[in-house]
Amino acid sequence: MSKLTIIPTPIGNLEDITLRAIRLLQEADLILAEDTRTSSVLMKKYGITTRMESHHKFNEHKKVSAVADRIESGENVALISDAGTPGISDPGFLLSRICSERGIEVETLPGPTAFVPALVNSALPMDRFCFEGFLPMKKGRQTRLKELAEEKRTMIFYESPYRLVKTLTQLAEYLGGERVVSVSRELSKIHEENRRGTLINLAEWYTKNEPRGEIVIVVDGRKD
Ligand code: SAM
Repeated sequence: MSKLTIIPTPIGNLEDITLRAIRLLQEADLILAEDTRTSSVLMKKYGITTRMESHHKFNEHKKVSAVADRIESGENVALISDAGTPGISDPGFLLSRICSERGIEVETLPGPTAFVPALVNSALPMDRFCFEGFLPMKKGRQTRLKELAEEKRTMIFYESPYRLVKTLTQLAEYLGGERVVSVSRELSKIHEENRRGTLINLAEWYTKNEPRGEIVIVVDGRKD
């Protein structure tokens, strides 16, 4: 029976892909990729010749029902994003939901995602945590920060280098400047860096040392 297979791809180092992911990408009838040009680098490295179509946040609403039709008519479709696991701060949810509603089988492979190595590297409690993805940029940001001031679990955020200092400064304001934080930058890449300190320390550090690349922030939860 045909199905949707959700396949994680590397978050930097192209060797971080499973043998099964490579085989299923090759065997699929169609690969839906966020950006076909970005993913073509990975396809080329592993000799994958399957046809790719774009599936991103600007066309996914329109496309999901037609994709579900194609799976029902017998095509095996693989979904990937530019990096990491589709659906994790990336397109994937809408397609997964429509497939589930229509009784189409969905299989998600285990594989790369940025928040797991960032959390484990943080040395902060990792038995219970909450994934916050990107904080809202404007509307709802303050409300979310107020709610998070009460959060006892370790918190994980995705952030761009241009907003890192602003976000660390605001987290210090709402959660307290002495709260421990770990910033993971460029995971699995040549310039990987994991830096731990208090919110105040790291806000100061990154003000003086302008950050580059991709970033995960991991913040300790509230202690009683
Ligand atoms: N789907 C991806 C995943 O499973 O992690 C996340 C995609 S989201 C659009 C991109 C964000 O993930 C970046 O802005 C950054 O916060 C984080 N990220 C992705 N790759 C990373 C890396 N190599 N190092 C640190 N953070 C990364």
